[in-house]
Amino acid sequence: MILAYKYKLKSTPSQEITMSNWLSMLRSHYNFCLRDRIEAYEQVKSPKLGNYSDLKTKAPCCPLTCSISPQSQLGNPFKKSGKKRNGYEMQSSELRFLKKARPWYKKIHSTVLQQNLRRLETAFLNFFDGRGYPKFKTRQKFKSFSYPPNQVKLKENKIYLPSIGWMKFFESRKIPDGFEAKTITVRSLSDGWYVSIRIENKDIPQSKPKDLGQVKTAIGCDLGINKLLALSNGELRENPQFEKRLSKRKTIRQRRASRKKRGSSNQKRAYAKLARLDQKIVNQREDHQWKTAHHLAGLADVIVLENLNIQGMIKKCRAKQDENGKFLKNGQSSKRALNRLIRDCSWGNLKLKIQSVAAKFGCICLDVNPKFTSQKCSHCGHIQKENRNKERFLCFNCGFLADADIQASLNIGIKGLETLGIGQSKLLRVTEEVTPKPEMTGSRNGEISVSLEVEPGNLQQLSLFEWVNGEAIPC
Ligand SMILES: [Zn+2]
Repeated sequence: MILAYKYKLKSTPSQEITMSNWLSMLRSHYNFCLRDRIEAYEQVKSPKLGNYSDLKTKAPCCPLTCSISPQSQLGNPFKKSGKKRNGYEMQSSELRFLKKARPWYKKIHSTVLQQNLRRLETAFLNFFDGRGYPKFKTRQKFKSFSYPPNQVKLKENKIYLPSIGWMKFFESRKIPDGFEAKTITVRSLSDGWYVSIRIENKDIPQSKPKDLGQVKTAIGCDLGINKLLALSNGELRENPQFEKRLSKRKTIRQRRASRKKRGSSNQKRAYAKLARLDQKIVNQREDHQWKTAHHLAGLADVIVLENLNIQGMIKKCRAKQDENGKFLKNGQSSKRALNRLIRDCSWGNLKLKIQSVAAKFGCICLDVNPKFTSQKCSHCGHIQKENRNKERFLCFNCGFLADADIQASLNIGIKGLETLGIGQSKLLRVTEEVTPKPEMTGSRNGEISVSLEVEPGNLQQLSLFEWVNGEAIPC
């Protein structure tokens, strides 16, 4: 099993200066090597370049002088044994020349430089797998460096980083017995330096999946904005909206920082303060998400989540133009607030955490397509758009009445069990009439969802049903 433990370092000011210097050197090296690999890659797609071997210098292309390599242009493409080197190996073989030409790179531990190149290699491998093209790193995006296994020493609450020295750290938790330290990453955050230690125990399998026959309980989860999670057992988990809660303070700090004299130490301090607030929001959200994930893993053996297309949800609205080419309002300005709320929920991260905790505890976690889950009646299977009226769900066919989110989570749970081929009796359901506690519904701003005991004000629905003691009976 591989785990990652994070500790805060108690570094001395001189060590901090060393580490910041390393970061800026490593960043330029990363960007330099990325440029090299991009040029090598572009040259392979040679037809695009036409008559040039290099777009920047516009040097003419000649088959005799232009040695095109798909990996890198630096270093010898062949090993001593005559085998071909890959991109990482080519650039790595060039490191000694780098240290000769720029002697200040000697201060960085050699394995850290190699790890830096490996990071670039991973970025390219990801790109060839169909993910995004590697990007140049800005100062804000390049915040960490790492040591390969067996380089760093650990002794109680002290850590030895080669070429930096011993330093203490806050030992917030002990590394469990049987686990050994692997790759170690040092990261600079707004409130100090952190070290993330990857620990591994080969005797414990990464995940212990349960047999389908052993499954006793299952739960469906519906993700939302007002309620972060609605569970099929009737439980609602509120969305704390950390970003929104601190947004006023953030605006003030942003404004203060922007008004400081450019390049002054006052401005630096103001931006550091702003960054600490951002860090606080991230920390609060992470904490809440881990707690939610552990809560879910403790509830049931099977966790069914919905497969959301978050990127699609926060996409920009298409531009509208009239016949003269004038741009009309397309609703983007009002959607921006919604996008902000969606980002604040951070569903993707939450799902990742649920999946990892589920794997740790041996729960099965699966995604289902959320199509029609909010419109379908979980009692009779009737699908109609009008079934759902804001926070209330009322089936036009059988009169089933429930909280809309919980009803959707029931559908998600049923879908998940169908996929696994398990009977629906295992699904944790709401036992009594669903009347969520008012403090659990809606956001903290006092926005309370409509109580289900009151007859709906929707005339269209009233004409179809008679209401007896808060229950709907079809006419
Ligand atoms: Zn129904």
